[in-house]
Amino acid sequence: MHVETLAVGPLGCNCSIVADLSTHRAIIIDPGGDRDAIEARLKALGVTVDAIIHTHTHIDHVGCTAELQQSSGAAASIHEGDRFLYDMLPVQAAMLGMLAPVKADMDGSLVDGGTLRAGGIELAVLHTPGHTPGSCCFVARQEGDSIVFAGDTLFRGSIGRTDLWGGDGHAILKSIQSKLLSLDGDTKVITGHGDSTTIANERAHNPFLRRR
Ligand SMILES: [Zn+2]
Ligand SMILES: [Zn+2]
Repeated sequence: MHVETLAVGPLGCNCSIVADLSTHRAIIIDPGGDRDAIEARLKALGVTVDAIIHTHTHIDHVGCTAELQQSSGAAASIHEGDRFLYDMLPVQAAMLGMLAPVKADMDGSLVDGGTLRAGGIELAVLHTPGHTPGSCCFVARQEGDSIVFAGDTLFRGSIGRTDLWGGDGHAILKSIQSKLLSLDGDTKVITGHGDSTTIANERAHNPFLRRR
């Protein structure tokens, strides 16, 4: 399993390409923008995209889904809890002074406990509401190594904001405590923006997760 992460779009959303280089299949997580840069990496890796998935549907995480879907023919998926946010992309765009992206054909097939496959890749879906109602994290395990794509739910030393549409400060803490901090401590965390971290590091040092 090959994983690479690019900071894309004006807000630097971390878009990840998870690829099986032996079968040349890949899954893209959160293509928030910079379609050309993403497609250049896909071409360099020689992979075909089987699925485009989203940790949530804030505009900075879905900005070029439609273009990538058009060029790859891949299914694009969200959790149904974020459908309303995807339907209000023009409102999200207006808030940021951006143009609304073209809408993709998003299915709502991401469900808690589900599994996504491409070649030899397996990603487990965790529904982790709080940052948005339909926020999800994706866990990949291979040869003893684990990695979680946490979107804007968990950051290095911080957690996602909950003051936007459908955000819930209690729910995000519950999601992190019950679904993320229970992962192995050495699980690498690819966050939605900025640096990666580990579960052990956030358990020990994240000031938002201190038990009161
Ligand atoms: Zn977000
Ligand atoms: Zn974001």
